Amino acid sequence: MLDLEDYIRIIPDFPKQGIVFKDITPLLSSPEATAQCLKELVQLVKAKKIDKVVGVESRGFFFGTLLAQALGVGFVPVRKPGKLPFTTIKQPYELEYGWDALEIHEDAIAKGDKVLVHDDVLATGGTAKAVCQLVEKLGGEIVQCNFIMQLDFLDGKDKLRKYPVASILNY
Ligand code: IMP
Repeated sequence: MLDLEDYIRIIPDFPKQGIVFKDITPLLSSPEATAQCLKELVQLVKAKKIDKVVGVESRGFFFGTLLAQALGVGFVPVRKPGKLPFTTIKQPYELEYGWDALEIHEDAIAKGDKVLVHDDVLATGGTAKAVCQLVEKLGGEIVQCNFIMQLDFLDGKDKLRKYPVASILNY
């Protein structure tokens, strides 16, 4: 059994001063660590019924697609504005300074779909909350938000208190 924390590279002051960035590229470059991470993410879902995995641009795509395959369901990308080719719906969300937005294809989720939201890191929770709002606008039901790691000191769980949240690693 590997300690997945050994595969997370800590980079101080990236992308800007004061942010301690958690880099998953060492994890992705190890097939053994990737396999274990996927197994642990699947275990977080337990026996819950899932119809779709929604992954967040861009680091949520790596394990999002693997998770969807492992669960035998489809994968749906949520992307920054202007990146998805078909008709989209948009959800703005607040950043530390200013606003950003995320989009999803309008036909990506069917009414009543049970949805697993996945991203690499839960920080303040703004990104994941916006993803949940997009899914709910399309009539989907959030079964769980799961992450490789959550940064507990940023209280991202507060923004997601309506939803079950699970992570492999806590910082
Ligand atoms: P939040 O909206 O503040 O929760 O930030 C989460 C988003 O920022 C996710 O899409 C992450 O990929 C990204 N993010 C925040 N901190 C880190 C980090 O330390 N490493 C990698 N991604 C991060």
